[in-house]
This record gives sequence, structure tokens and C-alpha cells, in this order.
Amino acid sequence: MINKKNLKLGTERSAIRELFEYGKKQKELLGADKVFDFSLGNPSTPAPKEIDETITDIIKNESSVLTHGYTSAAGLFETRKAIAGSITNRFGVKASPEEIYITCGAAAALCTVFGALTKDSDTEFIAIAPYFPEYKVFAEGQGAKFKVVPAETKDFQIDFEALGRLINENTAGIIINSPNNPSGTIYSKETLEELSSILSAKEKEFGHAIYIIADEPYRELVYNNKSVPYIPSIYNNTVVCYSYSKALSLPGERIGYVYVPSFLENSAELFAAVAGAGRAMGYVCAPSLMQKVIAKCLDLPPNLEDYKINREILYNGLSELGYECASPDGAFYLFVKAPNGDGNKFSEMAKLKNLLIVPGESFGCKEFVRISYCVDTETVKGALPLFKELIEEC
Ligand code: PLP
Repeated sequence: MINKKNLKLGTERSAIRELFEYGKKQKELLGADKVFDFSLGNPSTPAPKEIDETITDIIKNESSVLTHGYTSAAGLFETRKAIAGSITNRFGVKASPEEIYITCGAAAALCTVFGALTKDSDTEFIAIAPYFPEYKVFAEGQGAKFKVVPAETKDFQIDFEALGRLINENTAGIIINSPNNPSGTIYSKETLEELSSILSAKEKEFGHAIYIIADEPYRELVYNNKSVPYIPSIYNNTVVCYSYSKALSLPGERIGYVYVPSFLENSAELFAAVAGAGRAMGYVCAPSLMQKVIAKCLDLPPNLEDYKINREILYNGLSELGYECASPDGAFYLFVKAPNGDGNKFSEMAKLKNLLIVPGESFGCKEFVRISYCVDTETVKGALPLFKELIEEC
């Protein structure tokens, strides 16, 4: 009587988790300093001190019953108001609390949006490679089909011809993740404008909205003063899935939101369907203490210093050794071309040296590997000689 699909998902670990668990065992066996684990995207910088101070303040001074109690399904009004105010101030898009549904991170945000937009088993969502592997699990989990636009490996923008061929009458949404996991790329304004005009034409052709699902957990992790265009300002039919996991180093606290702007097509219905999908999956009332913290701390700047140092050492070091990688403008990943042209084999070779890097196949790019540089700087420095040995062996 067990659901076969879920049994498979629960027993087969993702390639990322597999490596991470292997790394933990190797660290116990050999000592933590002998293992160079670049597998997981777990922030390595602490949350800003204001977060802990705010938690302490709430615990000391506010009603314990209310702090730990249920909130409305969509979240505390004060938090939704603070989020809407921040969107309005930062991006010049007039947002209101009624357009915000608070979730357990971006994962729950994405699942509720996929759930809201999946009309039947013909419904399709499109991701652009390289993409976060869980999108497939989330979309298929809602009963939809998942399609992928092959990567434009020159600059990791979008292969529009390939995208155009994939869009059809069943396309409900395109997932856009910028800055991108795993490439670190920011989609340029020009890319997003072209995407917008293609989608508008396809909406006319097929007679229904095709939404952009903007997955934005890395929005605040940006280097060299680059800016990340706000997609709802470019394309009206955009739903935003946001998370505080990476920006404020709070991944274990499970807090984020869905923003369904009132100016998009069927906005009220879509918001209600997001709430309905949340209800059906039990994604109601995100952690209430964290909702209170976010109401007060949502605009704190991220702590980028360690990532900047790691990014520079790794990008420059690998480039000097002859590796090819996309210049990472954001997030905390490097997506590197395997010197032997095969990400799986290269990751296996690295594993023999206790250097743990994720094969690009999981992200839709077989020839690449992903290096998460949200680790301590000693790990980055210690890994460079191993990368030198590896490229010499290829
Ligand atoms: N989207 C992307 C691109 C991610 O990399 C992640 C987590 O690594 C998520 C969504 C899920 O984030 P959260 O921790 O907020 O659920």
C-alpha cells in the first residue's frame, strides 16, 4: 500500500546529499581537515547578530503563547506588511500584504506555486539548465510534467530558440533562478526583456497566461556591485518565490514567501490557489517565531565577506590552473567545466582525493561540476593543490 513514487524519492538520495553524507563519514574516519567538502549550499557565515538579539528580545518581552502559537495560514499580517513594504521600497513595485503568502523557505513556496498552477497531468513547467535539481521533484510531485531548456554554456544566459520550441499550449510556467544555482550567473535585463517578449507572444498564441516563477533565494548574494533585475518590473505575469535561507543564513529556520502581484493575470484566483495548495500540503502557518523575527530583520544586509574571499581565491586559482568556469556574479557556487569533459568521472576522481564536488548531470549539464564555496577559507586553500593534481591527471 506504499506510494511507489514517494518510496523511490525517499530511498534514493540526491547526488548532493549522497556526497555530503559520504563527506561526513570520511571526516569521522580521517579527521575534518583531510576532507574538502564542497557539496552542500549550506551558508557558512553566521546569521547577522541582530537576528539572535531579536529572537532574545521577542522571547523576553512578548507573549509566549502568541510567539509560539499558530498564526493565520498565510502568516502574520505584520510580517506580510513588512515584506510588502520592503518590496515596494526596494523595487518600486507597489506590493500589499494581501499578495504575500509566508512559507517554509523557497522549497515550500515553489511547491505551492506548482500546486496552484497544475491544472491536470498535461500541465508543464520549464526550467533553464543548469537548474536546481529539486525543481523536477517539486513539479512532478504536484502531478505536472517537467521540461528543460539545454544550457547556453557560453555565458549561461538563455537559449531562446530551444525555449521557443518547448513552449506549447500546456506550458503553465517557466522557472527563472537568478542569481543561479549552480552557475552563479545573473540573468541580464536584456535576457529578461527578450524572455518577456517571447512569453507575451506565446500567451497570445495559446490564449492563456504563461507565468514566470522567479526563484530568488540568492537575490542578496551578489558581487562586484552587480544588480539583479526585479522580474515583476519587466514581465507582469511573474510570481516570486523568496527565501531568507541564504541571505540571512537561516536555512534551518525554514522561512520565505510567495509574492503574487495584484497586476498579474488571475491574481486573486492564483493567490487563493497558492493558499489552497499550501493547505492541501500542510504548508500553513510558517514558523511563528521566525515570522516575528523577519518582520523586524528582513532588510538586514547579508554577510558577504567570507564568500567574497573564497570566490576570489577559488575563481582565480582555478582559472590559473587552466580550468574553465563561468564568472560567478552571485550566489556561492562555481560551475566548472570538467577538464576531461565528463562531470561524473571528474567528480569520482576528485572523491578519491577526498575532494567533494557535485557532478553537473544533476543540474542538467553533464560536462560540468559544481563547487559550493560556502565553506571556511582554509578548505578552499587546501583544495587548490588537489585541483592542480586533478587537472594534471586528465
Ligand atoms: N531554490 C534554489 C535555487 C536553491 O538553491 C534552494 C536551496 O538550496 C532552494 C530553492 C530551497 O531553498 P529553501 O532553503 O529556502 O527552501
